[in-house]
Amino acid sequence: MEMIYQSTRNAGEQATASEAILKGLASDGGLFVPTKIPVFSVPFARMAEMDYREVAFEVMKLFLTDFTEEELKHCIQNAYDEKFDMPEIAPLQEADGVYYLELFHGATIAFKDMALSILPHLLTTAAKKNHVKEEIVILTATSGDTGKAALAGFADVPGTRIIVFYPKDGVSPIQEMQMVTQRGANTAVVGIRGNFDDAQNGVKAMFNNKELAMAMKEKGFCFSSANSINIGRLVPQIVYYVYAYTRLLAAGKLQEGERLNVVVPTGNFGNILAAYYAKCAGLPLGKLICASNDNRVLYDFFQSGTYDKNREFILTTSPSMDILISSNLERLIYRIAGDDAERNSQLMRALSKDGVYTITDGMREKLGDFYGGFATTAQTAQTIKALYEKTGYVIDTHTAVATSVYHKYQEETGDGLATVIASTASPYKFTRSVMTAIDPKYDKMDDFELVDELARISGTKVPRAIEELRSAQVVHKLVCDKDRMQETVEDILGM
Ligand SMILES: *Cc1c(COP(=O)(O)O)cnc(C)c1O
Repeated sequence: MEMIYQSTRNAGEQATASEAILKGLASDGGLFVPTKIPVFSVPFARMAEMDYREVAFEVMKLFLTDFTEEELKHCIQNAYDEKFDMPEIAPLQEADGVYYLELFHGATIAFKDMALSILPHLLTTAAKKNHVKEEIVILTATSGDTGKAALAGFADVPGTRIIVFYPKDGVSPIQEMQMVTQRGANTAVVGIRGNFDDAQNGVKAMFNNKELAMAMKEKGFCFSSANSINIGRLVPQIVYYVYAYTRLLAAGKLQEGERLNVVVPTGNFGNILAAYYAKCAGLPLGKLICASNDNRVLYDFFQSGTYDKNREFILTTSPSMDILISSNLERLIYRIAGDDAERNSQLMRALSKDGVYTITDGMREKLGDFYGGFATTAQTAQTIKALYEKTGYVIDTHTAVATSVYHKYQEETGDGLATVIASTASPYKFTRSVMTAIDPKYDKMDDFELVDELARISGTKVPRAIEELRSAQVVHKLVCDKDRMQETVEDILGM
C-alpha cells in the first residue's frame, strides 16, 4: 500500500515519503504526517530473531513506501555500521529494575545519531528519485547536539554540503570542540554573535527568502533541512522501540503481547512521538511517559490542556531539553483533533500569535496514552547520585530527568509493568554536571580529568568521540554577526 503524507495544516498538500523528506516542512508551515498509520505485519517474535538493520528494514519499509527494497537496505547498511561502537546499535542495560535503552553509541554519543546517521542517505536517495539536479545544502541552527550529529552524518556525503550555525557563547566546551574539529570537505561551522534563537531565526529567514532560492538554483544549489520536523528523522526513531520490545521478548523478559511502558526525556517531542507512532502501528506499549526538566511546558499541557510558552526560559543541566516550543507536538495535536487540519491550524495560529492555546475536552480524552512529569535540576542530580550509589551505573542528565519522573509515576500509580527508559546521551557528553552530581569535589578538575575519572568510577571505556577531541585540530574558525548569516552562506558557497 502506498503511503501518502499530508500537511498538518492543509489536507490538500500531499507528498510521497521521498518528497516529504526532501521538503522537510510543508509549504504552509505545517508538518508532514502519514494519512494513515500502517500496521506492523511481521510477528514480533520473528523480529526478535533479527538484528538492528533487519528490524529497521521491516519498520521503515512500511512508512517509506516509495523507496525500493534495495534503496532502503542500502541506506540502512550505510547508516548502522561501525560508526556505532556496539554491534547491537541500541543495547539495553538493566539497572534498578528498569531497562535503559542506550541510544548513544553512535558517532556523536547522543540519540540524534540514531536518525542523523541515516537521514543523509534517505535524502540523497530521495533527491535521485525525484530528479533533483542541484547540490543539496543543509542549513542547521543548533544549541549543541543536533549540529554535531548532522555534521557527522553529512560529512563527505556526495551531492551535499552542510553549514551549521551555533551561538558562539551558548554551547558547552565539549559541544563546541566537537563541532569546530569536524572534518569533511563539504562541512562548514559558524559561530554567531547571538543566541540560539538568533541562529534559528537567521536560518528560517534564509529558507523563506525566494530571491536567495533563485540565486542558489542558478548556481546549482538547493536548501534542505536536517531538523527534527523532517519525517526522515522521525521514521528511523520508530525502529528502536520495536527493537527494544523484541530484544526483551528474545530474552524472555516479556511474553508476546505483554505491554511495555516507555519513558522519554523530551524537548522537541520527536522521540516520544516516534514511540506513539510505534504504539499506533501495533507495538504493545503501555504508558508513554513524557519527562520534562524545569522548562515544564509539556507537563503543564498534559495537566491542564493548555499549552503556554509565555514563561521564563530556564537554563538547566539538560540543555538539549531547554525548549519552550515543542515543534513535533503539532503532529499529536493534529491526530487528537481527529486528523482535522483546519482545527490544528487554528491552534497553531494562536500559538504563533499569542503563545498559547487550549485544546477541547474531547481532545484531552484522547491523551490517555500519555503521562506528563517533570524533574527539577536538583532532583536530576540526586537521581544520578542515587542510581550510581545503588548500582554503579552512571546516566547522563537528560536520562536522569526521565528516571526521576518514572519514580514519581510509579509512586503515584503503583504501575508494575516492565519499563524502558530512553537513554538519550552518554554521560561523557555532560561530564561536569554528571560528576558533580555524584560528588561536588569533582568541580575542581578540568574537563579531560573528569572524563578519566568517569571512566574509572563507572568501569566504562571513554568513547571514541571524546578520545578524538584530546588531539583534534580546530578546523572551523568562522564567526559572524547574527545579521550577516546570509552573506556568510554566500561566501561559503562561492556565490
Ligand atoms: C534532542 C535531545 C533530547 C530531546 O529529544 P526530542 O526528540 O527533541 O524530544 C533529549 N535528550 C538529548 C540528549 C537530546 O540530544
